[in-house]
Amino acid sequence: MSSPPANSTAPKYRAFTLQTYRQVPQLNALSDEEKFAIDVVGHVLPFRINNYVIEQLIDWENVPNDPIYRLTVPQRGMLKPAHFNAMAKLLRNGASAEQIRQTANAIRLQLNPHPAGQLEYNVPTVNGIKLTGVQHKYRETLLFFPSQGQTCHAYCTFCFRWPQFVGMDELKFAMKETELLIAYIRQHPEVTDILFTGGDPMIMRSSALASYIEPLLAIDHIHTIRIGTKALSYYPYRFTDDNDADDLMRLFEKVSESGKHLAIMAHFNHHQELRTPALEQAVARIRNTGAQIRTQSPLMRHINDDPQVWSTMWRRQVDLGMIPYYMFLARDTGAQHYFAVPMVKAWQIFREAYQQVSGICRTVRGPSASATPGKIQVLGVTEIHGKKVIALRFLQGRNPDWVHRPFFAEYDEHATWVDELVPAFGEERFFFEEEEMSVAI
Ligand SMILES: *Cc1c(COP(=O)(O)O)cnc(C)c1O
Ligand code: SF4
Repeated sequence: MSSPPANSTAPKYRAFTLQTYRQVPQLNALSDEEKFAIDVVGHVLPFRINNYVIEQLIDWENVPNDPIYRLTVPQRGMLKPAHFNAMAKLLRNGASAEQIRQTANAIRLQLNPHPAGQLEYNVPTVNGIKLTGVQHKYRETLLFFPSQGQTCHAYCTFCFRWPQFVGMDELKFAMKETELLIAYIRQHPEVTDILFTGGDPMIMRSSALASYIEPLLAIDHIHTIRIGTKALSYYPYRFTDDNDADDLMRLFEKVSESGKHLAIMAHFNHHQELRTPALEQAVARIRNTGAQIRTQSPLMRHINDDPQVWSTMWRRQVDLGMIPYYMFLARDTGAQHYFAVPMVKAWQIFREAYQQVSGICRTVRGPSASATPGKIQVLGVTEIHGKKVIALRFLQGRNPDWVHRPFFAEYDEHATWVDELVPAFGEERFFFEEEEMSVAI
């Protein structure tokens, strides 16, 4: 785990979970009702927070409405009342660990633990062997889940990867071996990008990360190495003060020197994550290696469902030298009912925020839903022959030919996900669905 060297002024990383959060004075000072809600929800969905988030990101004067508190601490509304009450009853009655586990698992199975066919689709094979830690959904870009990178410095309450943090997926979804990965890439010259994801790959030691990245530098058709991470938000000292932070920077430099692009895909949800000196230093240090930092975030009720939050966040990111990249919709899993913003409202928020910033910030695209057929962007609401419709398009598609073809759905101000939409103009299905049905699994 992360630890700064002896001469560093950075606080030593300390994580807290459901079992230990009462050791944190600020959390222990919450009302009994709030703590009970943490206990109930925390038995179903993962909870992990650390001292940097507690001491430097959360504004405790503003709790429980503080966005970073909402982002990291379980809240009652995250479970539907029936689920909440079932678990609350067990805890109140001192039920056995086994009873609690069974109920937790029964609830979890009702929270759509595997959205967008994550476990079944997109897992490629090489020489007849399944690459369980790889997803190849979009032609150019391979997703890679290194097995040591499958936790995070804190957990987001809305996380769509929650099943692996509560032990449901048991890392079936990760791999260690680089040999198979390299063999697969060599057989697929269309792949230009490798995206390391998790969890958070930046939880790994620099030497482990290097063992994955260095072999990739010898492959000519790989142009970009991306690292998806929330460590800039949850523990920026990873890049400046950790024992092996210097090794990490040397690794980043090595990627740039090899002539490839290193893209840090940083996850930020609110400008409140962008105000600490530790964050500023980490961003500057990464940029010094030649890497670029692109930013992405989902749009979440209770956290950032406000155009001002987004325009301020994008401007601040650009001030720091980062490039706004994606705004996502809340995925159809876990506590989606609590966090989701309807698609039409999401488009209004996106549009209002986008109108407030200069073209330099308008590299951002969204709002986008990462659904089974692809990344689907809500282009907006419009009227065609007097009929109100929602215009959409693919930013990424399982079939590259679907990308950037506008299509239309019936106007629906409540829909939060693409599977709730109905094709406009009396069409039976969307243009991509015919083909979708015959996709081999
Ligand atoms: C988002 C995503 C990517 C990357 O897409 P870009 O549009 O290139 O950023 C790759 N694979 C999967 C499965 C994704 O969901
Ligand atoms: S950083 Fe990403 S993977 Fe980790 S908890 Fe947050 S959303 Fe999930």
